[in-house]
Amino acid sequence: MVDEQKVKAQIVETATRCYNRGLLVAGDGNISVRVAPNRIIATPSGVSKGWMTPEMMVVVDIAGNPLEPSDLRVSSEWPMHQVIYQARPDINAVVHAHPPHATGFAVAGLSLSKAILSEVVLTLGCVPLADYGTPSTRELTDAIEPFLEFHDALLMANHGAVAYAGNLEQAFNKLETLEHTCKISFIARSLGNENTIPDRAVEKLFEIRERNGAMRPEARTGQVCSISPTSPVSPISPENSEQITLTRAELVDLLMESAKLFQRQSQ
Ligand SMILES: [Zn+2]
Repeated sequence: MVDEQKVKAQIVETATRCYNRGLLVAGDGNISVRVAPNRIIATPSGVSKGWMTPEMMVVVDIAGNPLEPSDLRVSSEWPMHQVIYQARPDINAVVHAHPPHATGFAVAGLSLSKAILSEVVLTLGCVPLADYGTPSTRELTDAIEPFLEFHDALLMANHGAVAYAGNLEQAFNKLETLEHTCKISFIARSLGNENTIPDRAVEKLFEIRERNGAMRPEARTGQVCSISPTSPVSPISPENSEQITLTRAELVDLLMESAKLFQRQSQ
């Protein structure tokens, strides 16, 4: 039997940590924990995550209907949590925030698609960028749904980031790792070079991740990014070598490289 009081206190502690680390401000973001298949404890709507108490947490079913009387309503972004829990029975916690570096990537139209840090490949994998969708609407859930099966964190264009896991601590860690990696990537890009780990080394990291049970073997081929060399979304389609497929991040990189070359040549 889950101790729901304890879960409520853990959500408040995680929200406070998010607030203190600047991963969200004011009424931003929301956190939920699934305590039974159709029973979820979540942060309420319109309350600063830095000033919450366990009594404020709301208990809802998967559709967001209240299961206990409360003056507060569940977060308006509940549909995002709902679609994640429906798509992934292995997920029991969702943390959504607007971390500045990760959200900066999402605003710039960039995914975290490169293997730049071995630890991140091992613990998080690549993080795709979902198209923009108006918060609290089907637009947003439709945009994130295709990525849910094989990724444990997502960037949402012109909005923020969401991470999810088997428990709350893991979900928070994934969000924190995402923000930290975006910050490092931003610094590397600012210094003028972002080297990546070679494909063969990435393969080894994926193998370790699979052995540790942190990634299902089928997730490797479902990665929507340039990290996985075995990805079906290969930059070059074998059926038609004239046709190439690039992620948004790869296209941006290519254009930036071309611009730099052009600049050098014209100097
Ligand atoms: Zn949001």
